[in-house]
Amino acid sequence: MEFDLSCKKIDVTPDLSDLVDDLVDHVPGHQKEVLCKLDRIQLQSNLFSIGYAAVMTDDKGQPGTIVGLRASALKGDPLSWKEQLNFGLVNAADRDFHISATGPKVKLEVRGARNSLMVYVMTHELSHIIDHLNNVTREDNCTRINPTEDSCVLDADSYAALSWPNPATVIDEDDSVQHPHDIRPLELLAKYPYIKNTCYYYCVGPAILGEAKAIYDQIMMTSFFTPYSTINSYEDFAEASAVYLLRDVLTFEIVGSDGKVLFDAKQVIANKSSEMKLQWLKQFYERSDLKIH
Ligand SMILES: [Zn+2]
Repeated sequence: MEFDLSCKKIDVTPDLSDLVDDLVDHVPGHQKEVLCKLDRIQLQSNLFSIGYAAVMTDDKGQPGTIVGLRASALKGDPLSWKEQLNFGLVNAADRDFHISATGPKVKLEVRGARNSLMVYVMTHELSHIIDHLNNVTREDNCTRINPTEDSCVLDADSYAALSWPNPATVIDEDDSVQHPHDIRPLELLAKYPYIKNTCYYYCVGPAILGEAKAIYDQIMMTSFFTPYSTINSYEDFAEASAVYLLRDVLTFEIVGSDGKVLFDAKQVIANKSSEMKLQWLKQFYERSDLKIH
């Protein structure tokens, strides 16, 4: 699948043509520019996650952008499956994203889109590429105290500093930590202890279903625009970007098996605690110098 630089499709198989039209019509802002200049989208039958995004360098040293998606994500309900990973209700290796009737489900709509889920997932993945290309959450926004150590102090005006603690100042208590910034904010956890129970792809001991209401209630009081944002600063940026950029047309709710709404992203972005994050995103996405390829 490729595009020329004006978003005209070239070499797209017929079964994907409709999806590509939908993405080009509904993926917002700079993410659409990243999409149109993307070097490669690959559909993979077996993948650890729903999707991934990366900036890679070829053997001549030229950088290129890639998004990979698990092929079955085009049909099933992968976001509900991912949410149910938290409660051990689904099989992490299930290629077809079967979900449990007893678990929470994600209710997602991008108004006007035929495939709301793919528009949302792609906006999320393309936000990771914007992050990589513009060093939003990476260590470039971080000053090393000791050049021989990994730890550093986040720059005060960096995105990660809005919700994440300085890696140098906290004790790593979490087994799922993969990056220096993947440390849950301890102050936040002291106030909202149930947030620690989200684990998604990294669950060692999943949460019990009876705690779902407490978990989502507490996330609703924070500035994490979706529950998945609580995992690390990279996912926080990708989720916040998708919710922020699609906010006028987006419904992102999590509902329990009784149909009651447990989480609503619209309410979180209306929180007073979300104001700084919204302001940061507004200023960032208004920049005309953002790298998109
Ligand atoms: Zn992601």
